[in-house]
Amino acid sequence: MTIRFDNRVAIVTGAGAGLGRSHAIELAKRGAKVVVNDLGASVDGSGGSDSAANSVVDEIKAAGGEAMAHGADVSNAEQVADMVARTMEAWGRIDILVNNAGILRDKTFAKMEMADFRKVVDVHLIGTATVTHAVWPIMREQKYGRIAVTASSSGLYGNFGQSNYGAAKAAMMGFMNVLHLEGARDNIRVNTLAPTAATRMTMDLFPPETHDLMGPETITPGLLYLVSEDAPSRVILGAGAGCFAVTKVYETPGVTLTGDDLSPEGVAAAFDQIADTTGQEELTQAFQQTRKYAKNAAEARGMK
Ligand code: NAD
Repeated sequence: MTIRFDNRVAIVTGAGAGLGRSHAIELAKRGAKVVVNDLGASVDGSGGSDSAANSVVDEIKAAGGEAMAHGADVSNAEQVADMVARTMEAWGRIDILVNNAGILRDKTFAKMEMADFRKVVDVHLIGTATVTHAVWPIMREQKYGRIAVTASSSGLYGNFGQSNYGAAKAAMMGFMNVLHLEGARDNIRVNTLAPTAATRMTMDLFPPETHDLMGPETITPGLLYLVSEDAPSRVILGAGAGCFAVTKVYETPGVTLTGDDLSPEGVAAAFDQIADTTGQEELTQAFQQTRKYAKNAAEARGMK
């Protein structure tokens, strides 16, 4: 089976460098028409230039592909609307959206200014929502859409000094969970990539021998699968150095407390059992949890 993107139109945000550049180049190589979005910012989001996006477009065109650059700031609704309008004018549809643009402003929470917290949430969460919101009606109308969001192990598992980034990246999971449900009837599939790659963002983090294993091209195959015709939906795919893994959230069976046990002391006494992962399950809708608790409570009280 060959995965191709002929006649598909893709927008890749933050595609002037790193992972986004790699995603855009590979999508174009496999037939997609690609909007290379990038405002050409530095790692902390300051500054801007057209050159990063333009040079990726040149690279795609030199290899025989189709691409156009757009310098929209993903968190600016007006600029995003212009990008979407120009894409529709040029190519008439938008099939794939890869939300990849991102910045870092690391500091321990004690030293973090709220402006730096807001800016990181703005680019990652509000930026992802803004671009997705602009393409959503088009994908619904087409009855076809493939959307990827980019999370991070920092959000899924935690990383010292990244409360802003970790919070914004964990939000990707909630965003995906809901859009997966709302998009399903219109054939819109939504997935999350959780990459770890050697890019300018992580330049100082990896020792040289690890660095050489972690190029963006070791991750892009996973992203292409997540936005392909036969893509899954609601998957969190970890990717790095050619290793791919799926992250899931599970809930333990739990314990239902009644009477005097329904107290902080009762929770403390039962906590080992509450946290026991034997028989844990993956819930895929919020109301599954509500139904489970209501059913357990009724049973614990001898009700049907
Ligand atoms: P990068 O800095 O190389 O590339 C990010 C690109 O996004 C830059 O070209 C930048 O100009 C662009 N950008 C920043 N703000 C933008 C905005 N407001 N609008 C449009 N473009 C904007 O970083 P990368 O490592 O390739 O990261 C890509 C994505 O992957 C990010 O979302 C990042 O958080 C995520 N990620 C990266 C790693 C890693 O190990 N590199 C790990 C986890 C998650």
